[in-house]
Amino acid sequence: MTDAALVARYPFLPGASSALGDLQPSLRELVEDPSFEQVRALAREEVLLALSSAREAPGEGVAGFDAARPEERVLAFLYARMLVAVAPSSQRVARRWSEGLSRRAGVEIARREAPSEELLALGGALDLELAQDPKFRGSFGFALPSYVRLSSSLRDERFRLSRQRLHQGTVDVEHREVVELLQEGVRSYLLDEMAMLRLEPELQTTLKARESEILTRISTLSPALGPGGFGVAMRPDLFPPCMREMRATMDRGANVSHAGRFALASFMHKVGADLDAIVEAYHGSPNFKESITRYQVTQIAHHDGGEGYTPPDCATMAANGLCVKELDDAMPPLCADPGKLRNPLNYYRIRVLPLARKNVGEKSGEAPAATATPEGAPAPPSAPTATSSGPASTPSPAPPERTTPAPRPAA
Ligand code: SF4
Repeated sequence: MTDAALVARYPFLPGASSALGDLQPSLRELVEDPSFEQVRALAREEVLLALSSAREAPGEGVAGFDAARPEERVLAFLYARMLVAVAPSSQRVARRWSEGLSRRAGVEIARREAPSEELLALGGALDLELAQDPKFRGSFGFALPSYVRLSSSLRDERFRLSRQRLHQGTVDVEHREVVELLQEGVRSYLLDEMAMLRLEPELQTTLKARESEILTRISTLSPALGPGGFGVAMRPDLFPPCMREMRATMDRGANVSHAGRFALASFMHKVGADLDAIVEAYHGSPNFKESITRYQVTQIAHHDGGEGYTPPDCATMAANGLCVKELDDAMPPLCADPGKLRNPLNYYRIRVLPLARKNVGEKSGEAPAATATPEGAPAPPSAPTATSSGPASTPSPAPPERTTPAPRPAA
């Protein structure tokens, strides 16, 4: 990738560093040299924006980028990568950050006057075999290996290979899906790059000391698990209507389906409930057995090294008869706006983030970050698809479609 304009729009792509020419600072110079302060400022803004507004306003750009030269954008990206690497819960931050950048790439493509050229350029930069031919529905087709590489991590049924049309080893893809697949290519490329990044311990210490304020903001926008997740103590009164309804149902001694119990346990874990609090939520359900419930909740919470499962998206909740948004007249109409929510976590995040920002502002003695707008739900690709399998007394993790299968102990 050598085109300066393309580098400027996607400074994170492979080959973008060619824009640096002879300007090849070491990582330490990037961290410490005063002449790179402008670059560091861009990077800080970029990380916060990618984390905070990736879902609600993915097209929003970093203000200073308009005036920045391509090489400055590339350096800002390299510095942003380091910030993400030393942030608390860095793997989680890396997932959100890469998702935010990939979504913004999708918006950039849509903005172009010649989106086809942009698609081909991006595909080429990501080493994907993407062919343009009018015989395809969206004028584009992916070579089968490229398609499989991109679609294997997408849960949406639309991307199942069995649903695609094949022309002599090329997968015929609609235009919109080409963009989504390329976004996935950007996301997975960034995650791979993050996994390979190695920073000297001494440099990490320096970076953490110099950027303590921004790292605090990052951890608020991508909160760690455990009690007080999202930067505030758990607020059941701010749970989305579906989760409040399930808790109320069990409190009344009525049964909630397997899919519902799985959704509630995974949701509560993600919003910072500890095991005791999650188990407590099931006390009222018929035939409650604490030891079995505790075992199953533990399996949900400890999945993926403590990340836990992501609760099912709203579409899956609705398909399982668990979405109750029409019952929630008293709440702001978050659930009624299909562009606003994808996952119940998103509802909760939108409700609690103002409180979290207030906490950070009070701790640091400063006003909250202007860019810290509500963030979207955690990376949906890791969300399991909950299946309804009839009544039982305890929550059961449902098997995910494409990640390590969750344990499913007998009820
Ligand atoms: S729209 Fe989503 S968050 Fe709202 S009630 Fe339905 S499933 Fe829950």
